[in-house]
Amino acid sequence: MYDVIIIGGGPAGLTAAVYARRANLKTLVLEATACGGQIIITPDIENYPAAMHISGLDFASRLESQANELGAEIKFEEVTGINDNGIEKEVITDSNTYKGKTVIIATGTKSRKLGLEGEDALIGHGVSYCATCDGSFYRGRVVAVNGGGNTALDDALFLSNIADRVYLIHRRDEFRGDAETVEKIKAKDNIELVLNSRVTKLIYDNKLEAIEVTDNNGIIRKLDVGALFIAIGRVPATNIFVNKVSMLEGGYIDGEYCHTNIPGIFVAGDCRNKEVRQLVTATADGAVAVHEVLKLLNK
Ligand code: NAP
Repeated sequence: MYDVIIIGGGPAGLTAAVYARRANLKTLVLEATACGGQIIITPDIENYPAAMHISGLDFASRLESQANELGAEIKFEEVTGINDNGIEKEVITDSNTYKGKTVIIATGTKSRKLGLEGEDALIGHGVSYCATCDGSFYRGRVVAVNGGGNTALDDALFLSNIADRVYLIHRRDEFRGDAETVEKIKAKDNIELVLNSRVTKLIYDNKLEAIEVTDNNGIIRKLDVGALFIAIGRVPATNIFVNKVSMLEGGYIDGEYCHTNIPGIFVAGDCRNKEVRQLVTATADGAVAVHEVLKLLNK
């Protein structure tokens, strides 16, 4: 039986693992894909104290090594459910069931989807949620970005240096992202703003060939693009915990001081209901969650 099972190997989960091992807890981290979470797509972290100009990938890999070196077990299995049996918690994965005295949920967030037909099947074939990861595949091509926040603005700027032409499609005529970045976008000859418009159809065979965009007056325009980069925000990756722990509308887990409503089940990082979702608050949550675990275990 583990003292603590941490679900998610992003900055919150791995920091929790570091703190748990330093307190000598038998610690398991379960990660579905690769450690690091969302931060791995950040090319240059500029706002983490004392870590100037480190890439998200380097940050994540150093944190994973630190957790490993301290003796955390990290297993790459997808968690499919949890059960609370009082003093014993069960964490079920695609291949095993693990028992723990406590659980920390640190599953973070995932990209919000448009919900269009073909969207899932086209991932890797013209639909992407990460311009810095996939942008270079579309060198010299025509691409589109959907969204009006800082991610969409940064993506459009990044892609304008790679692609021949970039359509930036946003559902309003004002951007949520920074005015300064909007000015940079407007100064780019090869970015066309498509405002008051939504992407309403993906046109594809085996790969994306075009998109249909509908404006607020119902006028439809077909844009021939090799790729659509969807940057319309993020949603908490908490589906598997519905009806297990208390959540707010939208799926963020209620968790002051990282406690959920279930004794022994804690929450840390971006999937927790809070105002500031930054790398520094994710790692802080990891430390706080373990502090609360130790109090519960009387250690
Ligand atoms: P965001 O700020 O929540 O923006 C999401 C955008 O997507 C909004 O413009 C929203 O439109 C649009 N949207 C949401 N649902 C939609 C839908 N179903 N269909 C069409 N459009 C939809 O998300 P984000 O850009 O990923 O940024 C997340 C946080 O990280 C923000 O706080 C952001 O400032 C920060 N960030 C900062 C930087 C930076 O400082 N350089 C870079 C990236 C991200 P509406 O505006 O109409 O709601």
